[in-house]
Amino acid sequence: MIKVLGIPTDINSSFMKGSAEAPDIIRKMDSDGSANSYAENGIKVKSCESYSDLGNMDFSKKLKPNEIHQLIVNKIKSELQDGSKLISIGGDHAISYPILEAYATQHAHLNILHFDAHPDLYHNFQDNPYSHASPFARIMENKFANALTQVGIRTLDAHQRKQTDKFNVKSFEMKDFDLNLIINHVKQLSGPLYISIDIDALDPSCAPGVSHHEPGGLMTRDVLSIIQAIKCEVVGADIVEYNPSRDINTMTAMVSYKLFKEVLAKML
Ligand code: MN
Ligand code: MN
Repeated sequence: MIKVLGIPTDINSSFMKGSAEAPDIIRKMDSDGSANSYAENGIKVKSCESYSDLGNMDFSKKLKPNEIHQLIVNKIKSELQDGSKLISIGGDHAISYPILEAYATQHAHLNILHFDAHPDLYHNFQDNPYSHASPFARIMENKFANALTQVGIRTLDAHQRKQTDKFNVKSFEMKDFDLNLIINHVKQLSGPLYISIDIDALDPSCAPGVSHHEPGGLMTRDVLSIIQAIKCEVVGADIVEYNPSRDINTMTAMVSYKLFKEVLAKML
């Protein structure tokens, strides 16, 4: 059974808070009765049946970024000890750094498939090494992963282009968008694979409930088709940056839930 954990923190968001409220609202999509409980391959996705919901981590005490980082590392490490696979629901994208730090202790030669409008490769953003603009710089410089593939990118500046080259990132930029090219690459990825989905990878017309609207993104169908093309073993995933305070009629919550179902079905 897959474990699902809410990680409700947005203290490392650079522009706007709100993603800390996401986990419970995404969960509501499963329980409010309107949604179908099946992934598109027919696998049933239901709490207690296909996944066990561990609830949310408790960040009610005022904590510093490095303390939150260590709490997440410790929690994920302990949940992986029995060989479990885990889906984390954020929270902002900063959580991927401690999650992958824990994963690296369990899985050597991890590959990462990362959906995002942004590469999140800043070496130093606003003087916060834990910033949600930097998790993949930290992950790659610490060698928590073997290789990183990024999909949906449309905000590369000169610095992040350099970082992309430095860490040998395979970057599929939206300006050159070709779904078949991405699908062919993803089919050839080898496991163990970790999937990180920043909801702002999607076009704001599909997913307006994010802090950073970046037009020109992926359609929901594109992301689903890419996930469904994965052939190797998926050992973990996170879904981050859904910001309910920016949403319209919970439409982005439902998109997040739909992606959650497809990722979970891939992991079973
Ligand atoms: Mn991100
Ligand atoms: Mn982003």
